[in-house]
Amino acid sequence: MLQKVEGIVIRKVDYGETNVILTLFTREKGKIGVMARGAKKPKSRLSSVAQLFTYGHFVYQQGRGLGTLNQGEIIDSFRGIKEDLFKTAYCAYMIEFLDKVTEEQNPQPYLFEHLWQSLHQLDEGADPEVITFIFEMKMLRQAGIGPQVDHCANCGRTEGEFSFSIREGGLLCERCSHLDPNRIPLSQPAARLLRLFYHFDLNRLGNISLKKQTKDQIRFVLTTYIDENSGMVFKSKKFLNQLNKFE
Ligand SMILES: [Zn+2]
Repeated sequence: MLQKVEGIVIRKVDYGETNVILTLFTREKGKIGVMARGAKKPKSRLSSVAQLFTYGHFVYQQGRGLGTLNQGEIIDSFRGIKEDLFKTAYCAYMIEFLDKVTEEQNPQPYLFEHLWQSLHQLDEGADPEVITFIFEMKMLRQAGIGPQVDHCANCGRTEGEFSFSIREGGLLCERCSHLDPNRIPLSQPAARLLRLFYHFDLNRLGNISLKKQTKDQIRFVLTTYIDENSGMVFKSKKFLNQLNKFE
């Protein structure tokens, strides 16, 4: 049966001399795999659409296993991302995260919209780190391991100053701070932003700009939380870290 979907290429693996297997994250069907036969030949009509991060319409033949890609039409190739090593690295990390927390053939139009918005905003020049923080929060929620950022993870208090406890899985108020000697100190703007990013809709991003210190704290909290609680290892994260050292 012929299927038409709107999707973004999130993985590309060579298969034989001339073929590639693409993983698409689609609005209609969630994550799917398709074989693009001959896509490695420069003259193939599939070669331009069979590129990582490409957003387009795809027509494929659904077999019992992997579908076969018949046609593709680019909607946006996100050139602003592909021509920038840093943006490419952030993008690679986001799609690797998405890939890890989603199942095949499970439609999640909301996640598709979030992925598309993230790439679009990145392409348009929004702060890659802020986009990534919001993306990480969404992926943690998707994986069912979102941190508690609305109130103290222990007593539920919403007022006052907070630190972040990896062990308690979220914010810790001053009264409960003794529970975790390894809690991570937070400035109050950082605590508020963690909450905002958790609930954030990217449509509302606008021109948000963060102080370096705030960003450093949020990055440290999210990186440590993901390392300790997700059990996931990201190939793309190593490259991203190396790049950031040179920045
Ligand atoms: Zn508390």
